[in-house]
Amino acid sequence: MNIPYLDLKAVTALHGEEIQTAVAEVVGGGWYLQGAAVQQFEQHYAAYIGTRHCVGVANGLDALTLTLRAYKEMGRIGEGDEVLVPANTFIATVLAITENGLKPVFIDVDADMLDLNLDQLQQSLTSKTKALMLVHLYGRCTYNESIRSFCKENGLLLIEDNAQAHGCIYQHQKTGSLGDVACHSFYPGKNLGALGDGGAVTTDDEELAQIIRSIANYGFEKKYVAAYKGRNSRLDEVQAAVLDVKLRYLDEDNDRRQVVANAYYAHIQHEATHLPSLMESGTNVYHIFPVFTPHRDALQHYLQEKGIHTLIHYPVPPHQQTCYREYNHLTLPVTERLAREELSLPLHPALTDAEVSYIIETLNSFHPIVNN
Ligand SMILES: *Cc1c(COP(=O)(O)O)cnc(C)c1O
Repeated sequence: MNIPYLDLKAVTALHGEEIQTAVAEVVGGGWYLQGAAVQQFEQHYAAYIGTRHCVGVANGLDALTLTLRAYKEMGRIGEGDEVLVPANTFIATVLAITENGLKPVFIDVDADMLDLNLDQLQQSLTSKTKALMLVHLYGRCTYNESIRSFCKENGLLLIEDNAQAHGCIYQHQKTGSLGDVACHSFYPGKNLGALGDGGAVTTDDEELAQIIRSIANYGFEKKYVAAYKGRNSRLDEVQAAVLDVKLRYLDEDNDRRQVVANAYYAHIQHEATHLPSLMESGTNVYHIFPVFTPHRDALQHYLQEKGIHTLIHYPVPPHQQTCYREYNHLTLPVTERLAREELSLPLHPALTDAEVSYIIETLNSFHPIVNN
C-alpha cells in the first residue's frame, strides 16, 4: 500500500463533476472578482455557520489579520495591547497578532483535551488584555462555558480561529458563531478547501463586517473613496464557486471523517502511543488526527517504510520560532512536549476502509525498540 497523508486529487474527485461545472460557469461568465459567486457563497456560508454576515477574503491569515486591524480602527484594541492565544497553534494565529503591533500572550494547553489551561488564562490577565483568540485546533471545539464567562467577566473580545473546524458543533451552534467574530481558511487541505487560497470572516457585528470588507478592498468605502489605508485581500469568483459546491457536502465529508476517527479510536492499541480524549460526536470534525508518542520520529520512519505518509502538526511551536526570538525564553511545557510527540495520521473523506484497517494494523505492530 502507498497511502499519502492527504490525497487531494481523490478528495476533489468525490464531487468532481459539480466542481468542474461550477468552475466552467465562472470561466465562461467572464466575471472573476467581486461578483455573484462570492456573494452567493458568503450568503450560504453565513447561513451555514449561523451568523448575520460573512466576508470572503484571500486566505485564513488575512481573515485573522484584517479582523484585528478592524478592531483597531474601531478603537476596540490599541497598539501594544495584549491578546491571549494558545501556545499550541499554527503560526498564522500569532502572525495576525504581531502584524497588528499587538502582543501575543501564550497560554499552554491541557495535555488530553488540548484546550486552554484556565488557571493560566486567569493568571495572564493584565489591564492591557483585550482579546482571546480561541483556536479549534485539529478540528476539536475548544469553546466551553468557562471560556464564555471568562471573556464576558473580563470584557474580552472572543475571536475564533476556525481554520481547522468547519462544521464543528457546540451545543447546536457551529463553531464560527460562538464568539464576537470568527476567521476561516479555505486552504485546499482544510475540511472545506478551495482549489487555491481562500478565507472568510463570520460575525453578527455589521460594523465590523463592513470595515473588514472595506480594508480588504483598498480601504474603499465606495469606489475610489478610501476611509482606511487598506489592502487587497479578496476571495475570487472561481474559488467561491468551488466552495459553494463543497459546502453542500461538508457535513457528509465530516461524517466520513468521523467514521474513520471512530475506527482509529476503537482499534488503535499501542502502549507507547496515546490519543487525545475522545470528544462527543459533532464537537470534533477531525481536520487532523493526532497521536502522541515519545517514539515519534521512529514511528514516523516505520510508517513511511510501510507506505503510510504522516505529518507533524507542528514541530516548532510559535514561541520557539526564530522570528519570535523575543519569546524564545518562554517555557510552555505541554505545548513543547506535544511538538516533540505529535504525529498526524492520514484522515480525509476519500480514505478507504482498507486503507484505514492497514494503518491501524501497521501502527499496532510498531515496536519502539525493534523498529528504531
Ligand atoms: C490554515 C490555518 C490558518 C491560516 O490559513 P491560510 O488560509 O493558510 O492563510 C490559520 N490558523 C490555523 C489554525 C490554520 O490551520
